[in-house]
Order: sequence, then C-alpha cells, then structure tokens
Amino acid sequence: MKAEIISVGTEILLGDILDTNTQYIASRLPGLGIDLYYTSTVGDNLGRLTEAVRRAFERSDLTIMTGGLGPTEDDLTREAIAAALDEELYVDQAVADRLRAFFTARGLPFPERNVKQATLIASARALPNPRGTAPGWWVEREGRVIVAMPGPPAEMERMWNEEVAPELAKRSTGAVIVSRTLKTIGLGEGHVDEMVSPLLKSANPTIGVYAKMDGVHLRLTAKAATAAEARRLIEPLEAEVRRILGEAIWGADDDTLEGAVGRMLKERGLTLATMESCTGGLLADTITNVAGASDYFKGGYVAYLPETKASLGVGAELIEAHGVVSAEVAAGMARAARERADADIGIGVTGVAGPDPLEGKPPGTMHIAVDDGVSPQTISYTYYQGRLATKRRAVTTALALLRRLLLARG
Ligand code: AMP
Ligand code: MG
Repeated sequence: MKAEIISVGTEILLGDILDTNTQYIASRLPGLGIDLYYTSTVGDNLGRLTEAVRRAFERSDLTIMTGGLGPTEDDLTREAIAAALDEELYVDQAVADRLRAFFTARGLPFPERNVKQATLIASARALPNPRGTAPGWWVEREGRVIVAMPGPPAEMERMWNEEVAPELAKRSTGAVIVSRTLKTIGLGEGHVDEMVSPLLKSANPTIGVYAKMDGVHLRLTAKAATAAEARRLIEPLEAEVRRILGEAIWGADDDTLEGAVGRMLKERGLTLATMESCTGGLLADTITNVAGASDYFKGGYVAYLPETKASLGVGAELIEAHGVVSAEVAAGMARAARERADADIGIGVTGVAGPDPLEGKPPGTMHIAVDDGVSPQTISYTYYQGRLATKRRAVTTALALLRRLLLARG
C-alpha cells in the first residue's frame, strides 16, 4: 500500500508550529506494512489544498491528512476533499446531534459556525473524536482511501490509534517492519559500533548505531510478513547485543533513563535527594516525570547563589577555597542534599550553563557528584552546545552517574 501524508495549516508553513503529526504517523506506518512515498504541507488555501488532494488521490492508495478540520473559515480540509473528488457537502444529522451533545455536556452554547464540522460527502464516514469537536473523515472511493484527522496532536493520536490504525492493519498486505531500540550509556558511538561490528553485516534484521542525548542507541530492524515473525527474527540478535554490551544497556524502546534509574532505586529500597545550581531544578523535574517517583525521591533544592548553597549546608570555606564551579562544591552539595533531606543518596550539580563564563571557567563546564555516604563519586567535563542543551546534558550525566553508583553497590 502506497501512502502519503498531507499536513494542513499556514501555521506550519510560517514555522510557528512544528509538524509533529507527520512524524507521529510516519513512525507508525512501517509497523503496518504501509510504504510512505511522500509527505507535504499545504497552507489554509482552498485552491492549493484541492490541488494537493487531487494529486494525492491519483498517485497514492492512502492519503492521510491532519489539520484544517476546525470550525473557522480557514479550516478547509473537508471543502478541499469534496472539491477534489467532485462531491457535494451535506450536513449529517447524526454527526450534528453528537456535536451539539458535546457542547451541552460542557455547559456551552452551540456556535452555529460549528455546523460545518458535521458535514460529510457521499464517500465519507465520520470518525468519532471524544477529545474535541472535529470528527475525522474516512473517505473511500475507487479502492483508494483518504483519511482526515484533526490537527491537535492529542485528538489526532487518539483517532489514529483507536479508529484509523486498526482499520489500516486489516487492509494492509505489505511486509511489516518492526524495530527494537536498545539504549546504552557510558560508551561512545564509535566504541559501541566497534563492539558490535561482527553483527553489523546482518541484513535482516539490520543494526544501526545512533548517538542520542541519553547515550548511544542501537536500532535492530526486521522485515517480515507479520509483526510476530519480525520480532522472532530480532530476538537472537538482541540477545547477542545484550551479551556484548552487558551493563552498558539501561533500557529499550520507550524507556527513559530517569525511569530506569527510578526502578533501580525502588528495587533497592533507596531514597534520593538533589541539590542543583546551574540546572535550576531540571534534574528534579526530570526525576519527577516518572509516575511513582515519590517512592524514592525525597526532594530537591535549587541553590543558585553561593550564599544559598552555604545556607543549605555547603561549607562556605569549601566555596571560598575552590569556587562554586568545582568538583569539591558539587560533592558538598550532594552530601548536603542527602543530609538535609535524610535520603540515602544525594546528587549535586554545579557548572556554567553559559553563554558567559563564570569564575573564569568556560560555558559548559560541569561538575556533578553523587554521594551515598560510603563511596561518593564526581564527574567533571566541559561541553557546550547552548544553555538548554548544557542543562539537559548535565541532567543525563547526573542520572548516568547515579546509575553507575547503584551498579557498583550491587
Ligand atoms: P487546525 O485544525 O489546522 O486549525 O489545527 C489546530 C491546532 O492543531 C493548531 O493550532 C496546532 O496547535 C495543532 N496542529 C495542527 N496541525 C499540526 C501538525 N501537523 N503537527 C502538530 N500540531 C498541529
Ligand atoms: Mg488551522
């Protein structure tokens, strides 16, 4: 099945919003055995949109559209499909009733403008959208399909998963591509590549090595008639990669480093506290992105100025002697966090987020410490790719250092 995606909206063409819908859909087509040949973005213009739909309908078995289903005058996806297929728009009473009920349930008056969201053409049926007002469209004619989904990602994703993907899975006959991602930390990209080099020749599954923000990922990709068969092909290769890389692998697929480390803390019955300077709470924020973090995370201090660090128990003489941007102060912060919060382990982060130097140290200078009261560890490096990237890198490094400490403790 040959597919294409059309995202609709002048906002995208102006660079105001990022077209994440296309990425979301594109990433899910290989698993359905659907080949994506084209993606395009068209502004809120009836002529150009009609032209794009007409061309897509001619050359693709499946056209997937997102956006332009709103109630406003510049939402033109329905009108464009109707024009491209030369069909009349009409108001569907059942859809209109559901729409009215949506407003009534929220205690809102029904704006007549929204009636256009209840329109259909003869070849279309409405796809329910409990998360918003715009129903989707499933259009089928001459053996070809056009799917139109709302622009807001929360609405689009639900409609994709509940309404569209299951229907496409039934129809697709193509070979399915399944990927498994193994995530490592602590080894460089070249190093990982070298370690698994005997496996890189494998043709099905293939292995790709990619440097990411949270370490080096290995992507094992198999093609087969069914997803189950593809997974069976991946299994022995995954086992081999795991044997070679061992503890460097911290997770797979959608796992996050904060989730993996959180699980380790929970399994060991240990608690954690943080004290952050240049990351301004990003570490605590990241840790608490994991549901159930209260099982192990006691809290975090943001100690931005030297006097704040001192008031929280980081020795003033330590700061005086080494400067705030130092491994010694990072260690002092980790210890102070642990003691203050009565936690088993503390993490301290201090550095220069940039763009300006601090204490004569260049932007990207970072000192991170973990302290479990037994064998504290620190790590120091300099790496600058802008202020936000520097903060994020520090958070990832802090979590990796914590993981290393936990592995060493056993
Ligand atoms: P629309 O239905 O085109 O008026 O889009 C409504 C809202 O959905 C936009 O303001 C965006 O916030 C979001 N949106 C629309 N298209 C996309 C897209 N391709 N990717 C991500 N968000 C989108
Ligand atoms: Mg729009």
